[in-house]
This record gives sequence, C-alpha cells and structure tokens, in this order.
Amino acid sequence: MIPYLDLKAQYQAIKPEIDAAVLKVLESTEYVLGSEVAKFEEEFATYCNASYGVGVNSGTSALHLALLAAGVGPGSEVITVPYTFIATTAAIRYCGATPVFVDIDAATYMMDVAQIEAKITPRTKAILPVHLYGQPCDMDPILAIAKKHNLIVIEDAAQAHGAEYKNRRVGSLGDLAIFSFYPGKNLGAYGEAGMVTTNNAEFARKIRLLRNWGTEQRYYHTMQGFNYRMEGLQGAILRVKLQHLPRWTEARRTNAALYSKLLSTSGVVTPTVVADRKHVFHVYAIRTPRREALTGFLQAREIQFGIHYPEPIHLSRAHADLGGKRGDFPISETVSEQILSLPLFPEMTRDQVREVAAAVIEAHAS
Ligand SMILES: *Cc1c(COP(=O)(O)O)cnc(C)c1O
Repeated sequence: MIPYLDLKAQYQAIKPEIDAAVLKVLESTEYVLGSEVAKFEEEFATYCNASYGVGVNSGTSALHLALLAAGVGPGSEVITVPYTFIATTAAIRYCGATPVFVDIDAATYMMDVAQIEAKITPRTKAILPVHLYGQPCDMDPILAIAKKHNLIVIEDAAQAHGAEYKNRRVGSLGDLAIFSFYPGKNLGAYGEAGMVTTNNAEFARKIRLLRNWGTEQRYYHTMQGFNYRMEGLQGAILRVKLQHLPRWTEARRTNAALYSKLLSTSGVVTPTVVADRKHVFHVYAIRTPRREALTGFLQAREIQFGIHYPEPIHLSRAHADLGGKRGDFPISETVSEQILSLPLFPEMTRDQVREVAAAVIEAHAS
C-alpha cells in the first residue's frame, strides 16, 4: 500500500523534539495563546518576510478575520475562483458578502488575471487569489489591478507555505495572507490552526482583537469578536516543525520533479510550473480524460490518491443560491472532471514514486 501522505512517519522522525515541546506546554499551563504561540507568530511571519503574524484556530478563521479586517461586509463583493477548497468561498459568505468568480487558467489552474477587471463593480472590496497546490498565483497583475481600483488583496496561501513569486515569499505579497496548519498541509499542526500574515500594523491589531472577543483589556470589549485563538500546544508543535519545513519542502520538490520526469511521455498532463515561481507541491496533480479508469487501476494497486477538487464551487449545492450553472466557468468544470492528486509527502521514497508513476503509465498504455 502506498499512502497519500504519512503523518505517522513524520511524527516518528521528530518525536523527541515534539514530545518535549508538548510537555513544556502542559507544565506551563499556557494552553490558549501564550508565549509559544507568540514566538511562533514571530517566527512564521519572519519565514514569510511579513511584519506581523496573528495565530488563529484554523485557516478558515484566518480567512474570515482577514476579510473582516479588509472591511468586507454585507453588500460587499470579493473576486475569487470557483476552483478551490470550499473554505475560500464560505469565509466570504460568513461576512455577509458575495463571492464573484473568475475562471482559472487552463495551464496553472489558478485565477485567470485577464478576467478580473470585467468583474469589478462599485461593491467590489477585495481580490482573493488562491495559491493552489503550492504554486503562487500571477500576483503582479493582480496587485496592479487592485491598486488601480483601490481594492485589498488577500492571498489564500493555505497550501503554499514557503512558495515564492519572483523570489518573494507568499504571505507578504498582498495586503493580507492566510495560512492553514491543518495536519495534512505542508506545515501541519496536531489539530487545527491557522494564521494571518500582513505588513500592515492596523490590520494586525484589528485581527488580534477579533480573534479574542475584541478584548484589549480583560472583560472590556471594543468590538464584537470571536473565539478564534490558537492553542498553546499547536504553537509549540508548529515551532518545532517550522525548523524542518525547508527540508520537507525540498523533499516534496524532489519527488515532484521525479514524477514529472517519469510521466513526461505517459499521456497525462503533469503540473505546469511557471518559470518565475517556486512551487512547494502541497499537491501533485495530474490531469487525464481517463480519470475513472485510472482511479480503478490505482485502487487495485493499493495506491491512495486524492481529487482536489471534484466539484467547482459554482456548482456546489452549498452555494446554489448564488445561481451558478454548468457552463459558467468551463475551465474549472473540465479540470474538475480530469484532475487527480498522486501521493506526495516528504518521507516518500524514490521507489514509491517510481511505483506510482509506473502504475499511471500502465493505466494509460491499454
Ligand atoms: C485547507 C484550506 C483552507 C482552510 O484551512 P482550514 O485550516 O482547514 O480551515 C482554506 N483554503 C484553502 C485553499 C485550503 O486548502
């Protein structure tokens, strides 16, 4: 069996460090926020080349608070893509705002920047590009459009810890950025966690208040807030794991490069990495019109896989009230039908990569 990812192998490799960090938090009683979270916020912001990091209890909470800080509220519109994880759109709706979709680019599966300006209205408040699978979006045109129309740019970097655009790290490219530390992400907690990064002191201050009941002084609330605080245990665990992230990222990139080499003549479409980007391969996604045959083949070989994502959000029943229908975003729809994520994790061996690639090739040979 080849797993899609192997969290157990990763824990075993760093167990003494993790266990010590966890025990320290248990002894300290700093179970919510506290010094480990504060240090992790600083260290992760520095890793992103951002001035501020605010730790929260999930990537979804980070999205919600980043949108609120950007002034997104009832009546606002936020431009994003339908080809993403549901959280991106859900968070817009938590604010009472409306997601306005643009289709994706057929090569990178990310926001087609040429379609943005036509979707801007007087109600548009923000652009929310998603650095899908670990590759940054084409940020310069997005930032230029935002500047011209006075819009806020929020990066959804939930899948892209350490990714780079023209040698600049994600997390410091837009006005605000959000990260998820869900266990399966490139930097994963042992539970739920997330962060907002920004270079804007006022945004950081506001998000700090919002995550903790709008509290500046205990039991005095200057705004209506939320309980979105990061746990001390997650902060301590993430501090340990951040030290290993550069090495894990390189292992992912090495495995991805091997896949792309082995699959170059297989008939499947391998990931397009744009020359000025550093892709951190949260997901290694291939595209094939014969996905159903391939999934059956992989199952028979006990090779796990994922499908990110089988349904674009404009066709999701959860957001049916937005009035989306088939044909609205044809590239998102076609890619959803053909995409498949192969196993990829830092601990994966070259032989495992070869075995998976051989199965994909064999499945397409018949
Ligand atoms: C994982 C993810 C999120 C949400 O993060 P959680 O920590 O699971 O709440 C948001 N956007 C994208 C693109 C994601 O992959």
